[in-house]
Amino acid sequence: MKRIDPPAVDDIKELQLLANNEGLGSYPSLMDEYVQFRSQYNLYNKSGGNPWNIVPLPISGDLKKALRTHYGSPPKGRLQFIKQYRRSLSPTLCPMCGGFGNGTLDHYLPKDDYPEYSFFSKNLVPACNCNSLRGTAVKGTASPARVIHPYYDDFLTDRLYQSVFEGEFYAPRISIEVIDKKHPNIDILKFHLEEVIQNEATQGWFEKYWSDLSQRPHDKLGLLLPLSVQDFKGADLKVVLEKYRNYMDKDHDTPNNWLSIFYTGLMKDHNRLDQLAAVINRNRG
Ligand SMILES: [Zn+2]
Repeated sequence: MKRIDPPAVDDIKELQLLANNEGLGSYPSLMDEYVQFRSQYNLYNKSGGNPWNIVPLPISGDLKKALRTHYGSPPKGRLQFIKQYRRSLSPTLCPMCGGFGNGTLDHYLPKDDYPEYSFFSKNLVPACNCNSLRGTAVKGTASPARVIHPYYDDFLTDRLYQSVFEGEFYAPRISIEVIDKKHPNIDILKFHLEEVIQNEATQGWFEKYWSDLSQRPHDKLGLLLPLSVQDFKGADLKVVLEKYRNYMDKDHDTPNNWLSIFYTGLMKDHNRLDQLAAVINRNRG
């Protein structure tokens, strides 16, 4: 996850140009709905896209389809930011889940349920394949539970999540939890964890990373490990890992990338650090 700023797009102007274009499938329905669309856009800006504050417009099946077509293959010269968002807004990290992928655009408010935001720039967030794994989940059963919004949720600059290791050294069960159980946005953090972060792809990455680190720690940490220390301890390792984590936070410009989450939890597991330090000592010999 990462707090990012969307490039400035004049959404109302884009909407006007599409609504007035007689050559498009959305004509004249979009023109008829123009005023309602504009007030939905303003509501989104005002409420930060909060699904608890936004009631979707009732939109006919035909217009819904036409809007989706505008998103999927924009009319010539229009909605050019869509292409740019996909690759260049956050090229190394997924602002939604914190993984190291990109290439898709997530509709924060899903386009099936909120079609009026199909091509609204603030509703389009660059993402990895967590986008398709999340489906249409955006809010929980009670307010304020909802998905985190990378354009509006400033608490994304806090360190929010950490890993938890349980069980044996080489094949632990790894999960992710909210660090501060009293965080003012705890319901949002939990919902986001369940619906966006936790999926098979994330689980697979964490398990593979631990498997590599526990079996061949020098491949991951070699440059960071001191050459001369003979009896490397868990406490020494913790110092190294904290430096590495902080460096990764800076490199990716967020304390909520997957490496931050992985190492923040591991650094608190003293037993496992001792065991990992023992592997490092053995491999050195
Ligand atoms: Zn993602």
